[in-house]
Amino acid sequence: MITVFNSLSRSKEVFVPSSPNHIGMYLCGPTVYSESHLGHGRTGVSFDVIRRWFEYRGFTVRFVSNVTDVGHITTESDDEGVDRIGQRAKLEQLEPMEIADKYMWAYFRDLEQLGIKKPSITPRATGHILEQIEMVQRLIDRGHAYERDGNVYFRVRSFAAYGQLSGKKIDDLEHGTREDVREEKDDPLDFALWKFAEPEHIMRWNSPWGEGFPGWHIECSAMALKYLGEGFDIHAGGLDIQFPHHEAEIAQAEGAGYKFAKYWLHGNMLTIGGEKMSKSKGNYISLADFYTQKAEPMVLRLAYIQSHYRSIAEVSDDTIEGAKTALGRLREVKRELERRIPEANEGTSATLEQAIARAIHEFETALDDDFNTPKALAAVFDLTREVNAALAAGAGKSSLEKALHFYNTFVGGVLGLYHTTQNSARDDAELLKGLMQIAIEARGVYRQNRDFSRSDGLRERLKALGVSLEDTASGTRWKLES
Ligand SMILES: [Zn+2]
Repeated sequence: MITVFNSLSRSKEVFVPSSPNHIGMYLCGPTVYSESHLGHGRTGVSFDVIRRWFEYRGFTVRFVSNVTDVGHITTESDDEGVDRIGQRAKLEQLEPMEIADKYMWAYFRDLEQLGIKKPSITPRATGHILEQIEMVQRLIDRGHAYERDGNVYFRVRSFAAYGQLSGKKIDDLEHGTREDVREEKDDPLDFALWKFAEPEHIMRWNSPWGEGFPGWHIECSAMALKYLGEGFDIHAGGLDIQFPHHEAEIAQAEGAGYKFAKYWLHGNMLTIGGEKMSKSKGNYISLADFYTQKAEPMVLRLAYIQSHYRSIAEVSDDTIEGAKTALGRLREVKRELERRIPEANEGTSATLEQAIARAIHEFETALDDDFNTPKALAAVFDLTREVNAALAAGAGKSSLEKALHFYNTFVGGVLGLYHTTQNSARDDAELLKGLMQIAIEARGVYRQNRDFSRSDGLRERLKALGVSLEDTASGTRWKLES
């Protein structure tokens, strides 16, 4: 039984899937107009672990995560909107679609490094203009939207449940809006579904209301319903877009007459040195810069999941150092198990097996309870101490194999911490080259000393590892057997 904290009810609920073995999950993706940063990484990792946990529990997950490639407005209120993609395109002297593609591929690359599984479907907003127009038209037809001079607005007061997700009251919201709003709106609360394109606006499409482009919120309502169907299981995203974006998504989808998501999951933000990351504070760091300047991606992944997804994660030099050490331990124990299993005795170790059973139970209980990764990690590190003691005491093979299975399944499969990035794969190749150089030199010394049993023994041991040696006139060469 999995319980999830549903933002809609503001409480933990037992998760009941809409169909027995399948889960539909939607995650709001980025607007692709600049480098992805630590915040994108955290959201990605949080929901990647959640997805992997559902898969571990036997569900097939259709994971849909969009890419916003229509430039949307920079202000929350929809007023004096600036198209961020368009703005960046002018700055870099590129077509808006060049900007979108450039940063979209960079985003995928940065996330792949973090071991985040690819979505089942990655819909792009520009590829779903028709679906968005259709939904806007439905909202007009059903009395939830109105057109003014080529713009279409959602009439917030026509949707009584507005505010249900964020816990905001419509009347309080009214109070907070600014005076100098566009006068063509009937109500300052109303938000844009479709916007009229001024002549200089490059990204534009034909619509029943003239040439224009969709508002930001509408794409997620349209694309989530298209690929996951009505009443789908989970809608996820960062807490920072719970309002107004997610609130608006619900209003649009339900206003158009569709059942929307059953469970809403929100991931919290991160701080650096106790402060929110922002360009103005000078603590902003992109994922790409982090990987080259601070630590490898897997260290960051571990640093993220050391916090519960609904808590603020602190990423500081200290937490990164701590994560480096912890990751080293997790890699080391796996390596040691793999090294020792072939030569271990045929016995079992009751103490170790008990520890493994306990760790499995604790890990499963923690993740079933609203995906409590810090608790799950605690179970992993408790077990690691036991495994190291068992290795020192010469535990039996079948028990060690069970331990290895635990690491592969939970640390690798669920937490995704054994992902090999391109960077570390290159490091491994360098390391292998260096180690083979040392081995070949050692064998050369044995042979010079006519100690053939040692030199042949060394060759045999390398062969067992899948490395073959060939003596040629110009020296000894090695290769990995495929
Ligand atoms: Zn969205």
